[in-house]
Amino acid sequence: MKADDSCRWAQVIVDIPHRDIDRPFTYRIPETLGHSVLPGCEVWVPFQQRTLRGWVLHVHDQPPENRGHFSNIEAFHPGYRLGEDLLALVPWLAREVLGTMADVLRLMAPPGPSLKPAKWVKLSESIGKEQIDLWQGIDPECGQLLQRLFRAPRKQMKFSSLVEKSKKTSPSLERLLEAGLVELVQRLPPFRFPEEKDLEPSEGIPSVAEPTLNQEQVAAVQTIIADLEKSHRDKKPFLLHGVTGSGKTEIYIQAAKKALSMGRQVLFLVPEIALTPQMGRRLRERFGSDVLLLHSGLTEKVRRSHWYRISRGEASLVIGPRSAVFAPVPNLGLIIVDEEHEPSYHQENDLKYHAREVAIERASHCGALVIIGSATPAIETYYKAMEGSYRILRLTERAQGQPMPVVDIVDMRAELAEGNRGMLSASMLQAIEERLRRREQTILYLNRRGFSTFVICRECGTVITCPHCSISLVYHRAGDQMHCHYCNFRRDVPRQCPQCTSKSIRYFGAGTQRVEEELQALFPGIAVLRMDRDVATEEGIEPVLEEFGREEAPILVGTQMIAKGLDFPKVTLVGVLAADASLHVSDFRAVERTYQLLSQVAGRAGRANRSGQVILQTYCPEHYCLQAVQNHNYEGFFQREIEIRQQLGYPPFSRLARILFTGTEDSLVRMVADTWTEMIREHARKSVVPLDIWGPATAPVAKVEDKYRWMLTVRLAQRGNEPLRSILSNVRQDYDSRRGRPLPVIATITLDP
Ligand code: ADP
Ligand code: ZN
Ligand code: ZN
Repeated sequence: MKADDSCRWAQVIVDIPHRDIDRPFTYRIPETLGHSVLPGCEVWVPFQQRTLRGWVLHVHDQPPENRGHFSNIEAFHPGYRLGEDLLALVPWLAREVLGTMADVLRLMAPPGPSLKPAKWVKLSESIGKEQIDLWQGIDPECGQLLQRLFRAPRKQMKFSSLVEKSKKTSPSLERLLEAGLVELVQRLPPFRFPEEKDLEPSEGIPSVAEPTLNQEQVAAVQTIIADLEKSHRDKKPFLLHGVTGSGKTEIYIQAAKKALSMGRQVLFLVPEIALTPQMGRRLRERFGSDVLLLHSGLTEKVRRSHWYRISRGEASLVIGPRSAVFAPVPNLGLIIVDEEHEPSYHQENDLKYHAREVAIERASHCGALVIIGSATPAIETYYKAMEGSYRILRLTERAQGQPMPVVDIVDMRAELAEGNRGMLSASMLQAIEERLRRREQTILYLNRRGFSTFVICRECGTVITCPHCSISLVYHRAGDQMHCHYCNFRRDVPRQCPQCTSKSIRYFGAGTQRVEEELQALFPGIAVLRMDRDVATEEGIEPVLEEFGREEAPILVGTQMIAKGLDFPKVTLVGVLAADASLHVSDFRAVERTYQLLSQVAGRAGRANRSGQVILQTYCPEHYCLQAVQNHNYEGFFQREIEIRQQLGYPPFSRLARILFTGTEDSLVRMVADTWTEMIREHARKSVVPLDIWGPATAPVAKVEDKYRWMLTVRLAQRGNEPLRSILSNVRQDYDSRRGRPLPVIATITLDP
């Protein structure tokens, strides 16, 4: 018979994200589904007495040899098929983030609820009129049923319409099934592509003329275009390193144009949902309705509709935050990752993937080019570029040659010495006054990251750090002690500064509200807008920013919420109170983040034709981070920082993993953390991998929603993370398979936290 050569077999990942079944299962593709079932299809398959969704990874003409019988695929989703480039990511990403392939496939599936198949009863092909009449004589009930099926369209009826609601089955149906006259099939409801109106229609967005590119921009664009034109598939990513306001977006736009002209599509990633509409608008000014947004801020209906349009190749440019890296773009030619250094590209919940890394991996499977851009590249990124993994393009000047803002550093120790106990230095006050007189605007930015958690000497600026890890100790109100979040070293808060014996040693604690009050006392009658987490209601930060944009107040005070993407032409002064606060966050990336944050806010001053001034208030004016911000010297900063990382053995010279343990009973959480520590130590010893294990220690936030949190930090003093990954996944497996009731403690592993 020809059945066997028209029959094929599929390897299916079933939609159960459980490690025990994280492998493909083989199913038979029945002839009825013919050649429509291909790799990337969503299918429905029988699995442990249920019908489950799954995705086809591979299709074979030959059955795998060692087993005789395979169940049939029951139905398949006709509306989409994941591309080869996405499928190639599945095993890679699952391994990379210690997740399952089903986890990864869920990220790639269409948004919203999945189709649910229903059970149908189908008359067997061979049954004719005469046979039915015959049955009518022998068993009228069965005959009736056969009659109804015979008349039904496609000789099929819904199971639920043949069986009484309260019953599982009916005796006559059972008899027919047994006799092989009817069979049960799973059928999906008819699928229609969702078509929802776009929430942000491009009509009404006027198209905008192209600016004439400056010399640096032209050079960058030429290099990119030449590379896009080459047919080679493994294109090395470009790192576009351009100062704030240098016109990086214009480069992205020109690169996108080129890719589109070659018949390929473009994926544009932005660090946050909030920035998506803004960038979306900018792109629509240039590309019109070909631009589609894809983010969780859209209603589910719109998102679904966009998703399917993208999968049919109807959008040439897709823009969205990190999750958009999985957008089903069929013929991807270019991926842009704007502000590549932003931590928000790292998914913190569920699957801890990094969108930049996923983008690069995906591009390698479809011959696409990746451009990652930043004014302040991540240290690890720039290090890779130095090593030759990325090609660097530089924009060293602002787009129209405007000067970079002047950055002044104010030493708050000197202020204290002169008797100023307020939050604002004399020069800050003077600068604000000047802006008020000139009718220009001021942004005061309170660096709240890590605020009130570190202990500092207000006279000499010494911060108390851990003697073992060189990381700032964190003050915990409970117990009135300081903790190290890497190694759990603890000590009391000293009464005197260990450096200068001053008694002005204290932990920080001051909010935007206090700044606001101080300003109102000093400048009575002046309107001050405030923006922090307390003020940001459901409407988000937009209303306050709009008010400020309409120049209804000359001063805006806020936290890091106001650091990003703001562009107010009248702002000529940006003041940062406690510029050094975030230097002392208990994290090896604290200095890097501070540099990025301060450069960002500094970039907010003097965007238009007025020149800008930035004032940084600090207790450690000589810190290389602040010096580098002052001189707009990224390279210099990078050199210092990379040296320190090398000395202390932090990434990129090592790989870190963090394991977070949470549970309602502190002692249990601690116990599980200890068990893991022992197991990791044991595994590392057996496989002769030199691991450093720090902790367990209480997490920076020791208790969240009544759950206690302990943290374990593991370091592998080499660059590849494979040994680390395999040790951790083995430990997890061993731990999970231990006998006895599992303890109510959850362990979450993050690689490269
Ligand atoms: P970046 O992303 O590098 O901070 P943008 O791309 O936002 O900078 O550009 C800053 C501003 O300069 C934008 O308003 C942009 O329209 C403008 N711009 C960019 N390139 C040019 C150019 N060649 N001529 C004039 N204006 C430009
Ligand atoms: Zn001191
Ligand atoms: Zn320590």
